[in-house]
Amino acid sequence: MGRRKVKNKIKNWITSLVVFIILCVTGYYGTTYFQEDTQENRVEITSVESIENSELIDLNNNNLNIIFFYVGQADSTFIKLNDFTMLIDAGNNEDGENIVNFLKEKGINEIDYIIGTHADEDHIGGLDDIVSKIDTIGKMYIPTVGESGTDYKNAIKAAEEKNIVVENPVVGDTFSLGEANCEIMSAMEEEGVSDNDSSIVLQMNYKQTSYLFMGDAEKAVENSRSWNRVDVLKVGHHGSNSSSSEEFLEQVKPQYSIIEVGKDNSYNLPSSKAIERLENSGSKVLRTDMVSVGNVGSFWLTSDGSVIDIKEVNMSLDGNS
Ligand SMILES: [Zn+2]
Repeated sequence: MGRRKVKNKIKNWITSLVVFIILCVTGYYGTTYFQEDTQENRVEITSVESIENSELIDLNNNNLNIIFFYVGQADSTFIKLNDFTMLIDAGNNEDGENIVNFLKEKGINEIDYIIGTHADEDHIGGLDDIVSKIDTIGKMYIPTVGESGTDYKNAIKAAEEKNIVVENPVVGDTFSLGEANCEIMSAMEEEGVSDNDSSIVLQMNYKQTSYLFMGDAEKAVENSRSWNRVDVLKVGHHGSNSSSSEEFLEQVKPQYSIIEVGKDNSYNLPSSKAIERLENSGSKVLRTDMVSVGNVGSFWLTSDGSVIDIKEVNMSLDGNS
């Protein structure tokens, strides 16, 4: 080998070494460089499994449990963490009794917090049944808007008969459900505000996991404040096009979005445009009117605070079917 060849070889070798060192220093070869740049630290959500019937729902655990009930074209969500419980909405009038029966079957005779998100029947219709038939109720939150409605009056009457504290929501108010912290994010009550936009919007954080329950809140609410990123979103207004705006989803960035909606409902909900926006934001969308197990169904979410698991359940509490 000639002297020049050896020189060239050493030169090439040194050049490669310098390039390698530069790449290492800039992090190009470091695995963390890409992770930090492109991956956000999100909690793990295990894929949706199916269970065949509600008897397989076991709430005797130390995890956070959230059940998004199928109550037809209506909303109802039950939350349990150890001995602490909360019900957000109670479906239509006909659904109340089914929700009561489910809770009693699971040994639930006490609800710490009842949230009537807003005055519409598909949210508070069943509240009077819950209040009068569940042994102990802690406190009820309900907005002032829509107080002249029949369902609203029935819910308040049932609460008064049982001496239950009824509170109007105040934005920024917080309360805890065991180790889960809840904050009222919105509850509009300006004159002329729609029932939907008066919805109590609630964020719940449990350890590293976070959840946002929108009631039927629409764009006006979404535009009224800034939002935190959450892992799971209970989509506003049954997946209507008037909710889940792009700007809102850019902030919330839910990993999973759950739509409580009636099969073949007359409003044509959910809107395909809203679903597209949810999916474009990177979210997986789950719908109670479209499950792989059965025709319609509920979702049972459990979390230890760092990992979330969501199961479809072949369970309907729809009193109209
Ligand atoms: Zn509704």
